[in-house]
Amino acid sequence: MDSAHVGDDLVKVLYTEDQIQDRLREMAAQIDADYAGKDLLIVGVLKGAVMVMADLARSLTSHVEMDWMAVSSYGSGTQSSGVVRILKDLDADISDRHVLIVDEIIDTGLTLTWLTSNLASRNPASVEIATLLRKPEAQRMPVDVKYVGFDIPNEFVVGYGLDFKERYRNLRDIGTLAPHVYS
Ligand code: 5GP
Ligand code: MG
Repeated sequence: MDSAHVGDDLVKVLYTEDQIQDRLREMAAQIDADYAGKDLLIVGVLKGAVMVMADLARSLTSHVEMDWMAVSSYGSGTQSSGVVRILKDLDADISDRHVLIVDEIIDTGLTLTWLTSNLASRNPASVEIATLLRKPEAQRMPVDVKYVGFDIPNEFVVGYGLDFKERYRNLRDIGTLAPHVYS
């Protein structure tokens, strides 16, 4: 679906499908260059990162292995607490591997801080993070993100994997959700 299919649910479209694809191609070129000659395992964080993984991986010109993790962050309502539980672990053993965690958005950064240190404890050759979106809040946390698509304002966004109550993930664009949808 695209924004025409969701009526007035969006206040505005932040990034169109084309803008997202252009930025992912630039990020992929950087990743190709940085990992040239190395074996790379990209790890998608379910479910939000599904679209980013699919498009970023296909923009790479080198072979890459793909694996997935699902985590749930304990917290009250919409606030993430930093206490994370693994719902689905990696299939792969990552010792001595170059690992790139792929996520769709970093808000507080608590989830990825936890995930990065969890994966780092498994003796990989390296662990880095790529995210399509980052909110300003994340920049106050010590999250070392190597690849960022776009820095966005502190607003609730949906589309391209990002949901509100499991909807809008299949929206092609990314937009700001209108208050009437969640109030
Ligand atoms: P944090 O970085 O705060 O630990 O959590 C990041 C997670 O919060 C993301 O993976 C995503 O599930 C959720 N999240 C944060 N900001 C937004 C947003 O603007 N829209 C949506 N749909 N999810 C968000
Ligand atoms: Mg996520």
